[in-house]
Amino acid sequence: MTTRTDRKLLALAAAADRRLADPLAGFVDLAGVREAVEDLTKAFAPLGRVQHTVAVKACGLAPLLRFLGDLGVDAEVASPGETALAEAAGVRGERLVLDSPAKTTAELAHALAEGTAVNADNFQELARLDRLVGATPPRSVLGLRINPQVGAGRIGDTSTATAASKFGIPLRDNGNRALLLEAFARRPWLTRLHVHVGSQGCPPGLMAEGVAAVHELAEEINAEAGYRQVTSLDLGGGLPVNFASEDQGPTYADYVATLLARVPALADGRYSFVTEFGRSLLAKNGFLVSTVEYTKTAGGRPIAVTHAGAQVAARTVLQPEHWPLRLGAFDAAGRPKTGPAVPQDIAGPLCFAGDLLARERPLPLLEPGDLVVAHDTGAYYFGAHYAYNTMPRPAVHGFTVSGEDVEFTPIRRAQSVAELVADAGGEFVGVLPAA
Ligand SMILES: *Cc1c(COP(=O)(O)O)cnc(C)c1O
Repeated sequence: MTTRTDRKLLALAAAADRRLADPLAGFVDLAGVREAVEDLTKAFAPLGRVQHTVAVKACGLAPLLRFLGDLGVDAEVASPGETALAEAAGVRGERLVLDSPAKTTAELAHALAEGTAVNADNFQELARLDRLVGATPPRSVLGLRINPQVGAGRIGDTSTATAASKFGIPLRDNGNRALLLEAFARRPWLTRLHVHVGSQGCPPGLMAEGVAAVHELAEEINAEAGYRQVTSLDLGGGLPVNFASEDQGPTYADYVATLLARVPALADGRYSFVTEFGRSLLAKNGFLVSTVEYTKTAGGRPIAVTHAGAQVAARTVLQPEHWPLRLGAFDAAGRPKTGPAVPQDIAGPLCFAGDLLARERPLPLLEPGDLVVAHDTGAYYFGAHYAYNTMPRPAVHGFTVSGEDVEFTPIRRAQSVAELVADAGGEFVGVLPAA
């Protein structure tokens, strides 16, 4: 039985040997993803019928969506691109849940035609659904996103249940509770409530408060209706990941224990559930590797110039206080470097001074040709590319380890320079004659 850390070390040596990270690539531990799915499924078993989805914004890779789909994980989508990506991966129709604060009529119509579940974000969207649903009962499960207004976690940008969050219907705002009861009373096809308290930095206790609020509301709607109109609760995602060490942090089992302690009735079988985890499924099962191109000192500080900067780690570079990453120093053969830790800046390739993966990070002194590993980057980092300096998306490789052998499977090509030119309006060169 190998650990994730063992597999990572074997993969790094093999990747160095095959020069896969020259200059930059991402890697996904497929056994790790499989284990995460097993942990998830097992942990939620006490809740009965649960549809697990992966948040596609955390997993922007079609082969990985297919892999997860084959493991029984459906997909949560929030844009036409994400919908198309999941559908291309073979996860479609009722296996999709559409959440987004800005769904167009065309997106809604597509979801209804496909039987895709929709969580409406606001009352205006409900009015649009009224027109689209018409007189025939929809095939899609239709729900409403509630903002339980339970407050922020540690990171403002990813806290979605604050008093003034842009997501969902604010439950505690004056009059909204009555409007919600009326909205359900008028629409027998509304059968779901959705809550997603936040993403990273929200403690499980706060998430459980959000779930408690929608459970209570569902009970109230059902009492008012005189039958069980709300039949499912979508609990969202948001389980935080520990970016400080190889340890997972709160596990799915910890989270379910917290949920059941707060709302024991979740296990009474009266509701089915949806989950939408992203980061907690994937972050610790992926990493970025860059070759060190040059090293220098400036103002007495050693600097290692790598190929991993804001284009692959925008949040880490732009908000380092919220999104620090653990970095590892490896030699050109992919072995952990030894030697005294020296505070160094780990710089990316982009042309702005703040393009640093880390400042004054104590690591064995890096040299050209060494490898820098950015750990825990399996969620969001591969998908959320930032196209500054016309930098390409790097290749991503899945890997599996058996004994000492590592097998790599390409799951995304690096973007080519021809694709970069095309994306920059290349086909229109010549349409702006200056003379
Ligand atoms: C981002 C998001 C998720 C996934 O959040 P993680 O922190 O990656 O688990 C789930 N649901 C919704 C609505 C989201 O916006």
